[in-house]
Amino acid sequence: MATKRDYYEVLGVAKTATQDEIKSAFRKLAKKYHPDISKEPDAEEKFKEVQEAYSVLSDETKRKQYDQFGHAAFSGAGAGGNPYGGFGGAGFGFDASDLGDIFEDLFGGAGFGFGGSRNRSRARRGNDVLMSVDISFMDAVFGCEKDFDLDVVDACQECDGKGGFGEKNCPRCHGSGTITSEQRTILGSFMTKTTCPECNGKGKTYDKICNACRGKGKVKAHKTITVSVPSGIDTGERLRVPGKGQAGENGGSNGDLYLEFQVASHRFFERDGNDIYLEVPITMVEAVLGCKKEIPTVYGNVTLNIPAGTDSGTKQRIRGKGIKNASTRRTGDMYVIFQVQTPKRLTRDQKKLFESLAKTDFKDSDIDRFEKFTNENEK
Ligand SMILES: [Zn+2]
Ligand SMILES: [Zn+2]
Repeated sequence: MATKRDYYEVLGVAKTATQDEIKSAFRKLAKKYHPDISKEPDAEEKFKEVQEAYSVLSDETKRKQYDQFGHAAFSGAGAGGNPYGGFGGAGFGFDASDLGDIFEDLFGGAGFGFGGSRNRSRARRGNDVLMSVDISFMDAVFGCEKDFDLDVVDACQECDGKGGFGEKNCPRCHGSGTITSEQRTILGSFMTKTTCPECNGKGKTYDKICNACRGKGKVKAHKTITVSVPSGIDTGERLRVPGKGQAGENGGSNGDLYLEFQVASHRFFERDGNDIYLEVPITMVEAVLGCKKEIPTVYGNVTLNIPAGTDSGTKQRIRGKGIKNASTRRTGDMYVIFQVQTPKRLTRDQKKLFESLAKTDFKDSDIDRFEKFTNENEK
């Protein structure tokens, strides 16, 4: 992927730009690059870039994260502890209906790619949230019930997420959320729709604003949720926890929570998909003469028959002792790799035994092929 341009650069605004400046820069560029209007060849790409930049800079929380961490704040990887670390790009953590409102303002609700009239009072689903979580090797192998702490934006309990009490239709826009006005220009007169400033497009006002959420209908909350992690989850895999994302608006459903797993390594076992690898050291004598050896598996010890004449690096498969993956319903195998240890410190007696061994002839030895090779080379 090409390097991402700085969001401020994309919108052509200063780092200190006000929300009004950001919004107006976005309007100008969105109009310029809208694929339905623009004749520029890379309009669609530019348009997406502009949307993405605006989705971040128009949201004070996201803007702060971006100022602090740059694009890494939304890249997903390493977003641990940052529950709103997005999925990169538009889509997640990005509310397209904000755009709808802007395009309504721009095009008089003509529905340029965003559908017809939109009203802020309609139910909106909450944003999805991505959280990176660590899990131990064995928890990943067997699955587990695990508690995860997260900070979420939740519907305010006091006002049921409405933001106030004593709901009534907005007197200014009569509940529609928009105000239509006529604009006369030299080309004729146009009807333009703008968001009602009285109710912010909600179409509703309240007798009393809720104190707990200061009219927002949402509050930040710290939650512990218990999640059942299926066996076989691997690094980079995501688990969807329905309804545990951000709160919806105006009675809309909650977004989903996605947990992205980072599986810790194990002292002895190594994992490749559903297969488990284990290196087992054996002595020269065990390799030469063969032996029975007890070795660990994730399911407990098993006794292996190591045949006489085992080479270092030999792989032996133990069927079905890999990971029983709950998602794919497949079971992996375990592979044992033997490492023949060459003794470094011999006793006097052992040395004598090796010396007398050296005088014997190993019939099936393949070593003399090099002798032939070097002799041929000398010719
Ligand atoms: Zn209104
Ligand atoms: Zn409230």
